Formats: sequence, C-alpha cells, structure tokens
Amino acid sequence: MKYVHEFRNKELSKKLIEAIHHSTTGQYTFMEVCGGHTMAIQKFGIPSLLPAGIKLLSGPGCPVCVTEKSYIDTAIAYARIKNIIIATFGDLIRVPGSRSSLEEEKAQGNDIRIVFSALDALTIAKENRNKQVIFLAIGFETTAPGTAVAVEEANRTGLKNFFILSAHKLMPPAMKAIVDEGIKIDGYICPGHVSTITGSAIYDEIAKKYGIPCVISGFEPLDLLQTILTLIKKVNKNEPTVEIQYKRAVHPSGNLKAQEIMKKIFTATDSEWRGLGNIAKSKLTLNKAYEHFDAEKNIPVEVEETIDDKGCICGEILKGLQSPPECALFDKSCTPDNPVGACMVSSEGACQAYYRYQTKKETS
Ligand code: SF4
Repeated sequence: MKYVHEFRNKELSKKLIEAIHHSTTGQYTFMEVCGGHTMAIQKFGIPSLLPAGIKLLSGPGCPVCVTEKSYIDTAIAYARIKNIIIATFGDLIRVPGSRSSLEEEKAQGNDIRIVFSALDALTIAKENRNKQVIFLAIGFETTAPGTAVAVEEANRTGLKNFFILSAHKLMPPAMKAIVDEGIKIDGYICPGHVSTITGSAIYDEIAKKYGIPCVISGFEPLDLLQTILTLIKKVNKNEPTVEIQYKRAVHPSGNLKAQEIMKKIFTATDSEWRGLGNIAKSKLTLNKAYEHFDAEKNIPVEVEETIDDKGCICGEILKGLQSPPECALFDKSCTPDNPVGACMVSSEGACQAYYRYQTKKETS
C-alpha cells in the first residue's frame, strides 16, 4: 500500500523488536486507550513479538464500547416516538440495549438513519422540517468538533428541529480514573486521533501527578514498536514525561480551531462510562447558550429501567482487568455476527479485535 509500506518495514521492525528485548529488564504493563490501537496491536500480532515481561492492556478507547447502556435505551425510547428521526453512526446501531437495539427498532419501522457525520444529520433535519432529528453524538475529542460545527451551523441558520443526544467523552479523566481505581499502569500508549485535536498537554497531569509516562502513538507496526520501546526506556530511567511518536499527524498544540469550537459549544460534566462508572467532568454537554439543541432538555421521553448485562464482562475488559478470551461467552454465544456486548459489536472493540485477529487469524 502506497505511503504505508515504510511504516511496515520488516528490517526496521526486527531492529526495534531486538531493542525492545534488549531494554526489557523487568515487568511492564502498558495500556492503550484507542480503539484504532486495539485493532492494530492485534492485527499486526504485536503481543507475540514482545518479551514475556511486557503486558499490553486494552483500555477504554472504543467510543461505542464505553457508551453506557442507558444511553442506548434512551436512544431507543426516542426512536419509538412518532415524527422523530434518529441519525447515528453505523457501529452504534447493533449495540444491544436492555431490551432491544436500534437495529431491531429500525426493522420495526422506526426512522433510524445511518450517517457518517453530524453534518449529515443536519442535512436530514433541513430536509425534514416537520420532524425532529436527533443525532446520537458519541465519540471522544476526535468526533466532538464535528458535532460542535453542526450545532453552530444549526444555530446560525435558526434550525429548530435538530437536536443532539450527547455522549461525547473526554479521554484524560478516564485515564486518571483507571489509575485511581488501583489498576497498575506503567505507561500509556496515548491515542493518535484524539491527540491530533487536543495536542499533547492533556496528558501532562498523568505524567507529572501520577508518574506515568505517556507516548502518543501512530497505528502502524513501526509506530507501535517504537512507542513501546520509548515507554520501556522512560520506565527504566524513571522519566514520566509525555512524548509524541506520531509526529507526522500530531502537533504539540493540536488543532486550535477544533479546540476553540469545542470550548464554545460544550462544557465538561460528570458522566457514566460502561465499566468505569461515574467519572467527573468526563462528558461534553452543550453550553447554556446552545442547550436548545439538547434532546434530553427539550424532548420529553420515558426510558425503561436499564437491565445489567448477564455474563458480559465488557466493563472489566475496558479497565484492563480481564481479556476477551476470559469471557465465558467469547466465541460461543458472542461473536461479531451475534454480539452480546458492545466490545464485540464495534470494529474498534477489544473482543472483536481478539476474535478477528487472534481466534480467526484474519490478516487484513
Ligand atoms: Fe461481552 Fe461478548 Fe466481550 Fe464477552 S465476548 S465481554 S459477552 S462483548
């Protein structure tokens, strides 16, 4: 593949693997908090290349996976209201709620449309002014600016039938919550896409206060191997600092325009995360000036009580406490074709990554 092969160079990979083995002097636990990294690490078989002393954990990096079940239940309740159109990213549609999924609701005839961006949802609202359109706004700092642009545009054009149901999450509070819970992390493989927006300073507190080195990584084998080597060296030198490995995409200051519009439209509030519970200031909620676009504040809905998953340990997996094969349902009653939990639904979920690349040995 053009422009990618240089980041998959076998000779350089071998040298990095040798350097990793040479530098490993004890036990190291590193966590990635990005669904793209979860997939890449499994796809390229990175764990099998590392010394036994290095343990890689998948954390809360898949947006669909961390979205709480009650959010799915709320979206389903809205979908059942006449004259409401739900606009959602494709991954979310198959995530099981307590009693149904958006996919099942669509099959029942409710108006649920798959979109690729918040602006697509805005277009649907413009074309259907006699209906209320609710965009299911999920994802981290990577997707939030797109939602913010759509909200600002709706405001500018005086659109009255466009709403968002926000579950936009912030990554640093979750990274801190994991450590606060007592989970031992020696280094964070920090998310590449999130960091293109935020820059690197958002990890400073994790490095300084928690003493955990952070390296922002790209997604190719050489990126990940170099990141792991850098983390090992930082641990060995007791040097908890933040470093950007993914320099071809991430600037230390991030994308200032995106940060500006996020700040203008959103404010950080407390939020539930699947598996992690309530985390302070970890969700982006519309600012007062834009709350007329907030579905929950403007469209009344009755949501049935959320029922806990039976047997699904997705929450434990998102904290790095267990791995997908440790789930009794993995590759039995839970597969990508018949997912029981969110971690198997999403193309960035740890269970699907293990299923595709460890169990079924897919190579692409
Ligand atoms: Fe949940 Fe399925 Fe993963 Fe088990 S394999 S944790 S049931 S998503």
